[in-house]
Amino acid sequence: MIKPSQIDSSENLKFKQPHVVSVFSLVGMTITAIMGIIALFNQNYILASGLFLASLTYFIGYYAHKKFNNLVISSAIILYSLYLLMFYLVFSGGVENTGPLWIYIVAPVSLFIHGLKRGLIDITVFMIIISAIMFIPNELIIHAQYSTEFKLRLIYSFLTVTSLSALYEYSRGQSFKHILELTKQYQQLAHYDQLTQLSNRRDALRILQQERVRITRNKEPLSIIICDIDHFKKVNDQHGHNAGDAVLKDLAKLFTDSIREQDCVARWGGEEFLFILPQTLAINANNIAKKIQNKLEHHIVTYQGKSIKVTVSIGISQFKAEQSIDEVINRADKYLYQAKNAGRNQIFPKY
Ligand code: GH3
Ligand code: MG
Ligand code: MG
Repeated sequence: MIKPSQIDSSENLKFKQPHVVSVFSLVGMTITAIMGIIALFNQNYILASGLFLASLTYFIGYYAHKKFNNLVISSAIILYSLYLLMFYLVFSGGVENTGPLWIYIVAPVSLFIHGLKRGLIDITVFMIIISAIMFIPNELIIHAQYSTEFKLRLIYSFLTVTSLSALYEYSRGQSFKHILELTKQYQQLAHYDQLTQLSNRRDALRILQQERVRITRNKEPLSIIICDIDHFKKVNDQHGHNAGDAVLKDLAKLFTDSIREQDCVARWGGEEFLFILPQTLAINANNIAKKIQNKLEHHIVTYQGKSIKVTVSIGISQFKAEQSIDEVINRADKYLYQAKNAGRNQIFPKY
């Protein structure tokens, strides 16, 4: 059956915030470039080169994103070049040993780009490398020296910022899931009839419009069936409204089981159903209608021990070139009216 377009619920939806990745790369590029210029003025040429290299990498990340529209790669370039810059700043000490102060950026950026699980793995690896750099004995490799107290407090405070960022990312993820769930629910309410779970009138019209566009392009036949339960008021009067509801649900299932994958059956009104049958001539729609009529002949709806039998009247109409949806529905309605007048349990036009 033709379903309404579903909201994309892929877990990577957070990646679909390309403007944020662009902003990250542009901000990273600008800040590192400015810091590079300052380092240049301070005649710290090695630091300046590192910063300019980082700035260039951010530009590459930005360019890759704009040119190839590949967020996964550009995000990875941005994130891991940030890590490399941090390793360098901690290793070299940056300006007067203030380099390590920048590592706090890593926690929120990692979690934003890679999500909670992968982000935390990245941060753990990052922290192990940063600790290794700080604690390598100077006899092995010469690097910036920090006091033990500074190193330990840097790690503690970094872990605190990571925990808070993870908590924030977790609640953001939960809210996102909740919104997605609500969106699905509202979409379900907007497109489907709650009693029968069939497409509602609005969705049927949407599908009709879509199919009409398709047949003008493909020159394929498209037919509709309008089907109305005979004397349904009597069912309600004799057995109660709930029994009437049970009949509607039961028939909705019978109809759905009688159509092909590409067809659609919708609840058009109270006890009226609309079938949309792509690639179907009126004569073939007539066969489907007969099949339904035959099925109903042997079908009994049971509700709270009561056996209820119903018949339906059917009007069929095929789209002709340049005909509007209203015109085709009106014609099927006219045939339905004729079927009612002819004594009900009939299919019109007759073939
Ligand atoms: P006809 O053969 O001319 O179609 O007669 P009918 O009684 O089916 O037609 P009518 O239009 O007079 O009555 C339709 C009835 O369908 C009236 C309404 O109470 C009932 N109906 C509409 N929607 C629902 C529903 O959701 N549940 C139930 N139980 N009944 C419904
Ligand atoms: Mg009716
Ligand atoms: Mg009726």
